[in-house]
Amino acid sequence: MSNARIKRGFRVPLRIRNLGLALLALIAAAVIWLATRDPALTTPALPALASVELRQEAEALASYDVRASFQPERRTFTARERVTYTNASGWALDALYFRTYANAFASRETSPAASSELFELCYKKGFSPGGITIVSALVGAEPAKWSYEDGAGTALKVEIPPLAPGESISVTLTYTILIPECAYRFGMSGGIAALHNALPTLAAREGGGWRLEPYYPIGDPFISECANWRVELTLPDGWLAAASGARIADSPLTYEALAVRGFTLTLSDRYVYAQEISGGTTITAYATTMGAARALAREASTAIKAFGGMFGEYPWPSYDIAVADIPFGGMESSALSIISAAVAGDSAARMRAVAHETAHQWFHAAVGNDELREPWLDEALCVYAVAQYIKIEKGDAAYNDYVETEIEPSMRITIPRGVTIGSPVELFANWGEYRTIVYERGASMMLGLSEAMGDGKLNEALALYVKEEKFGVANRAAFMDALKRAGGSDWEGFLVDYLDTYIIGGW
Ligand SMILES: [Zn+2]
Repeated sequence: MSNARIKRGFRVPLRIRNLGLALLALIAAAVIWLATRDPALTTPALPALASVELRQEAEALASYDVRASFQPERRTFTARERVTYTNASGWALDALYFRTYANAFASRETSPAASSELFELCYKKGFSPGGITIVSALVGAEPAKWSYEDGAGTALKVEIPPLAPGESISVTLTYTILIPECAYRFGMSGGIAALHNALPTLAAREGGGWRLEPYYPIGDPFISECANWRVELTLPDGWLAAASGARIADSPLTYEALAVRGFTLTLSDRYVYAQEISGGTTITAYATTMGAARALAREASTAIKAFGGMFGEYPWPSYDIAVADIPFGGMESSALSIISAAVAGDSAARMRAVAHETAHQWFHAAVGNDELREPWLDEALCVYAVAQYIKIEKGDAAYNDYVETEIEPSMRITIPRGVTIGSPVELFANWGEYRTIVYERGASMMLGLSEAMGDGKLNEALALYVKEEKFGVANRAAFMDALKRAGGSDWEGFLVDYLDTYIIGGW
């Protein structure tokens, strides 16, 4: 009773109270609106932690610990990167080799984006140099001698005290990357920076040596082993990053990427994002419009689920999909796909690009391959996977249309003698020839194989191949072995006919 009287005594006049409530409601609505509109006011939700299986796979791998910051006005990315490496070979090592691919962009002669067919598309304002400046190299706490093995500066040798098999060592590099003004997988264009294969990464080992091929202008001329990355990143206000790893903290912004083939980033102050959850994976799409971000997130989520059903579950807790200005439909990285800004607004092209790059999460990221010597082993499999995806998601008519327009014409045209589906990347004369033979004729081979094996056996073989080869670097023999185990017979003759035999147009 008394309370009621006291309350009455302090009662705010009704009109003012209603005005106050209306004002509060307006402020709340504005906060919610801004939170969904303006990335500077919020950040995407953190993905779940990595699975126990992924952590176990990651245990024996080399690890990178990076502290980095980005200076957009100077187009620079400065970092301190500590690599811990265990000598898993049977030989003592006296040097570690890093791929410093950014240096290929220092001159017109060595830039893969400066070939005659790409130059105008990539360097819209004329040639712009990029590269990496090594400030220091340390082994433990001691300064180390370093030098480049090649003229382009893409193979960095860091000398170390003899490292016996089974022993571990830490090397710390401090460096600044200059990002070229270039619409490419490494470059800045349209307010978006892409850093693909830009951070120094240990070269792949082969027998007693290291793989140090040049950065060819065709294909994805890389071979990369899985490693773990922990990256702490300082960004200017308003900038968002898509990355190969799962964000595990926002302050400071920290990524954890387990069992990935390099750490790729795209950065922009024009990004907005949309998120979807698919199983244990958080999908975050970054684009310059909310409509494109939502469409990309939805498409990526559908693709992750479909390919997970076909080839085994997607292994990472996060999958980022980000728009950038690149001259291809898309570009794959572990747990991150870059989609061309040009296809992001076209629903059919976007669907195909997202499906293709997402298929690479199985054939490239999970199961690695030598993309220099056997590029068909990821590209042909991805085009085939897209055809299967279209069949499931869009039906038989859409599937037939895709096969008739994207795959079959490649078998009817004449290609200069000398290259086959199984050829290494360096033998191709241009992107058109490479795409026609490796992607499209390669997919035709897969469709033929599927028909010959019958009854869904090829998809069974691919699921087995993923299960056996996950986080390693597979090859043709491993692929043939999976075919034999799932299909019950030897398919070597079939593969030789397609992979190694020159096909005259008109088949
Ligand atoms: Zn591809």
